[in-house]
Amino acid sequence: MAETIIGIDLGTTNSEVAIYKDGRVMVLEDNNSRIIPSYVGLDDNGEIIVGEEAKNQYQVYPERTIKSIKRKMGRDEKIVMGTEQYLPQELSAIILRKLKLIAEKHLNCRINKAVITVPAYFSDAQRQATREAGEIAGLEVVKIINEPTAAALSYKTESRPNQRILIYDLGGGTFDVSVVQIEGGVVEVIASHGNNHLGGDDFDQKIVSAVIEHLKVEHNYNDTLSSQAMARIEQAAENAKKALSDNPFALIAEEYLCEIQGVPVNLNMDVAREDYEEMIRPYIDETLEAVHTALKSADLAASHINEVLLVGGSTRTPLVARRLEEKFGFAPRCDMDPDLCVAMGAAMQAAMIKGEDVHAALVDITPYTFGTRAYHEDENGPLPYYFVPIIKKNTPIPVRKSDVFYTMYDNQQKVEIGIYQGENEDVRENVKIGEFMIKGLSRAPANNELITTFELDKDGILHVTSKEKKTGLQKMITIDNAMSKFEEEELNTARERISNLFTGDESGAEGNQQVSAKVESVKAMAVVEKAESLFELAESDDCEEMINLIEAIKEADIAGDKAALSTAVDELSEIIFFLES
Ligand code: AMP
Repeated sequence: MAETIIGIDLGTTNSEVAIYKDGRVMVLEDNNSRIIPSYVGLDDNGEIIVGEEAKNQYQVYPERTIKSIKRKMGRDEKIVMGTEQYLPQELSAIILRKLKLIAEKHLNCRINKAVITVPAYFSDAQRQATREAGEIAGLEVVKIINEPTAAALSYKTESRPNQRILIYDLGGGTFDVSVVQIEGGVVEVIASHGNNHLGGDDFDQKIVSAVIEHLKVEHNYNDTLSSQAMARIEQAAENAKKALSDNPFALIAEEYLCEIQGVPVNLNMDVAREDYEEMIRPYIDETLEAVHTALKSADLAASHINEVLLVGGSTRTPLVARRLEEKFGFAPRCDMDPDLCVAMGAAMQAAMIKGEDVHAALVDITPYTFGTRAYHEDENGPLPYYFVPIIKKNTPIPVRKSDVFYTMYDNQQKVEIGIYQGENEDVRENVKIGEFMIKGLSRAPANNELITTFELDKDGILHVTSKEKKTGLQKMITIDNAMSKFEEEELNTARERISNLFTGDESGAEGNQQVSAKVESVKAMAVVEKAESLFELAESDDCEEMINLIEAIKEADIAGDKAALSTAVDELSEIIFFLES
C-alpha cells in the first residue's frame, strides 16, 4: 500500500490533521479533541508542551508560552520562549511534529509526507517558511495549498461546469474572504481580501468589557482586576459567546471573582443573544465590506456567486449566516464543520496526489428543517401560522439549538408547542411531527420567556424541550425517527392528496363528505386564526375562554366530531364579534 500523506490545517488559533482512508476523510483526535490549539510552551521542568496543555498555561506563564506564531511566519525575527530564542518556523515545526505524532499513533506507522494549507494571501516568503517548518518537523511537504481551495474541495459543490464560490473564513484572530473559481475540476482563487486582526477574540473582548461594566454598575467594583480574575473572565466570555450561537441567553457565573473590602464578589450575569449581536455588529459590517472589496477585485457582483461556504469557528455565530443571506439572497452552506473543513480538504488533496479516486467528504446532516409555530407580525399583518426554524436543513448532526418564545397575554398558563418538519414559512405547508402542551406556567404579564430546545442525535431522534426561563418549569417530548418521517416524495404525494380534497377530484359520496368535513375544518381554523389575532384586545378572562375554545376546536377537528366543532366555533365567533364591535 502506498504511504499515507496527511493533510494539515496549520491555523493561527487551532490546527488539525486529517487523513483520507477507505473512501472517507477523518480528522484525527488527540485526547478526545480534533482541534489542537496552536500553542507551544515549556512546562515547569523545561519540557516542550503543545496544544491544550500549552494553552492552559498561557495566562499564568505567558513568558514561556507562545501563541499565534503563524502571524510571524516568513519574518526574520527571533522569539523568546523561556531562556531560548526560536525562529517562527521552528515553533511552527513543534506544532507540526505534534500533528505528525497524532497521525502516527492513529495509523501505527511512520508518516513522512504532508499537504499543508496556508492563507491565500501568504507571500512566497511565508509559504517557504511553512515548507521549512514541515521539513524541520520531519515531513516532506508534497504540496502547499490555499486554505480556501481546501475548503472548496471539502464542501461537495454542485458539479456545474463553471462555479464561482465565495469562501468566508472567520477564525479566532483573522478574517479572510476569497472568491474561488472551479472550472473543469480545477480550483483557482481569483480574489482574496481580509483583515489579519479581526476574529472571535474581538467578540470575546466585547463580552469582557460588558462584564467589567456590570461589575462597576452592579457591584460598585472600580479597582483593577488581578490577572487571574481577568483570565477567568476571558474564558467565561468565550464560553458564553459559544453558548449564544445555539441559545438565546447565556449565563456568566463566576464565584468569588474578586473582593471589595474583604467581601467576595460573585459574578452572575445573563447575556442575551440580541444584545451580544449588537455588540459585534460593527465587526460583521467590516467583514461584509471586505466581501464587497473581494468581489470588486474579482470584477464580480454578488449575483455572480453560486455558493457561499463558511469556514472558521466564528462562523457558527448565527448573525454571520443571516447577514450573508441578506447580501447574497440565499443561505450560505453550513453542512461541513467550519473548524475541520480545511484539514479535510488538505487530506483530500493529499489522496488525489497519491492517485486515489476521491469522493466528497461525507458528514451526517439533517435533510430537513425542524422548527415550531409562533405568532408573528410583519408589515402585511399578523401571521398566526408562522414557522420558526430551529434546526436548519443541512446542519451536521448531532446538533442542539434553542430559541426564545413569549407568552401572548397576561397570566397565560399554558402554551402548545407544535413541532414541524419542512421548509415553508407557513407551518400548514410543513409536516407536523409532534406536539405537546406546557402547563402550569407562573401567573406573569405577557411576554413571559419560554426557551424551546431542539436536540437531534445521530440516530435521528429528536428531543424537544420547552422551559419557562423564570422558574425552570419544563416539559419535553421525544420523536423517534424524526428524519425519516417523510421522504420528499411522500411529502409531495401527501400534499397532492390533501389539495385534491379541495378541488373535489375524489368522486362519490365518500369523497364529498371528506370535502365538506375539510371545508368545516378550514373554516374553523380561520376562526381560530382570527381569535388569536385578537388576544391583545381581550381581557384575561376572555383570553382564557378563547384558549379553551381553541383547544376544544382542535380536539374536535382531530376527532372528526362535527357537532362539537360547530358548537365551539359558534362560541368563539361570538367572543370575536364582541371584541370587534
Ligand atoms: P478557528 O481559528 O477557525 O479555529 O476559530 C476559533 C474561533 O472560533 C475562536 O474565537 C472560538 O471562540 C470561535 N468559536 C468556536 N466555536 C464557536 C461557536 N460555537 N460560536 C461562536 N464562536 C465559536
